[in-house]
Amino acid sequence: MDREILIKGALAVVTMDDDRRELSGADVLIRGGVIAEIGLAIHAPNADVVSAAGCVVTPGLVNTHHHLYQTLTRAVPGGQDALLFGWLQTLYPIWARFGPEEMYVSALIGLAELALSGCTMTSDHLYLYPNGSRLDDTIAAAHDVGLRFHPTRGAMSIGESDGGLPPDSLVEREADILEDCIRVIDAHHDAGEGAMVRVGVAPCSPFSVSRDLMRDAAVLARDKGVMLHTHLAENDEDIAYSLEKFGCRPGQYAEDLGWTGPDVWHAHCVKLDGQEIDLFARTKTGVAHCPCSNCRLGSGIAPVRAMRDAGVPVGLGVDGSASNDAGSLIGEARQTMLLQRVALGADAMSAREALEIATRGGAEVLGRNDCGQISVGKRADIALWDVSGIEAAGSWDPVALLLAGPTWVRDLWVEGRPVVANSRVVSFDLNRAIVRQGQLVQALQT
Ligand SMILES: [Zn+2]
Repeated sequence: MDREILIKGALAVVTMDDDRRELSGADVLIRGGVIAEIGLAIHAPNADVVSAAGCVVTPGLVNTHHHLYQTLTRAVPGGQDALLFGWLQTLYPIWARFGPEEMYVSALIGLAELALSGCTMTSDHLYLYPNGSRLDDTIAAAHDVGLRFHPTRGAMSIGESDGGLPPDSLVEREADILEDCIRVIDAHHDAGEGAMVRVGVAPCSPFSVSRDLMRDAAVLARDKGVMLHTHLAENDEDIAYSLEKFGCRPGQYAEDLGWTGPDVWHAHCVKLDGQEIDLFARTKTGVAHCPCSNCRLGSGIAPVRAMRDAGVPVGLGVDGSASNDAGSLIGEARQTMLLQRVALGADAMSAREALEIATRGGAEVLGRNDCGQISVGKRADIALWDVSGIEAAGSWDPVALLLAGPTWVRDLWVEGRPVVANSRVVSFDLNRAIVRQGQLVQALQT
């Protein structure tokens, strides 16, 4: 069994429990991957003690949308200033040259960046499988980094010759897609409490697969008891496409094909209207809000305030690094707060609410009530932020200031195991991975 860890004397423990308690001077005891005790001066003579003096302790952040493979294609010339569809068409030919090693190394780097920014659990959306790549490549990376992982088996089936956006070389036959979904679920999905891997089914978007595949994917996911994920209502082009091709708005399309419910979450949803927000609230359909990506691609400001007020489950996503440039989840929390204030005024969202969306909110979207808060019996996924440095100097309220800095955690545990310690990734050799990604990127450029 893993050793006990005692996180001792935190300036504040932000629990995100049902009462949203914030405890000053408190300790947190971890045992067997679970939070065993929270309180003042906990007696645990056999535990490894980690001093949290001058630190804020929060639940680990939860990332509900990513494309880890894109980490090797940041700031590609030609895609830097394009809207979504033009951006995709610039990048598809580069991604078509990826293979298993690119997928693995890209995921390693992306996962490490997430971990440093406070993330303990992430989903991923991999929807292209060139040159023998498999979802298993990213699952291996998550295992090596030590993050809790919800990979989704994405897919594209409508290529250029059928009027779709991606080149034909990147699309798959729909029968093969469904068969591989079954394979990866059977090989990797763990429905149990404390699961480190849960697989989802995730056709890329309504504009890259057929109506039949959307419907079949929903039937398959429900048969297997796994979740469904896709992109929805990302920008105006997306809405126009839906109206033209399907004769309805994206919310209606999703509902008609079985894509609503507590086992479904959609990325972006920037353009949901009032009726669609009501539909999502009524059905408990989740949203992965990706504010930096929405800004980067000029997509717009998602109606997060209205979604939250209506009762829609909302979590955060960094989205792929190629449409964000960064992969910082705490950065997304800050951007979430700022964008709602741009849209609606300074009282539209507090820092604490943004932090709640980033932690507890994301866990709810991913169907993980065993994670996302610091409560006895929940999984020990914990971020520790050193607020004794320059970013927090002058602070009267270190919890409210947390979104502004520090930008990296000092320590991070997943299932009670250290992933970051003293501001360094300790679970695998990150420096080696950085050297390797440089070589791979250079090869892609020639
Ligand atoms: Zn995305």
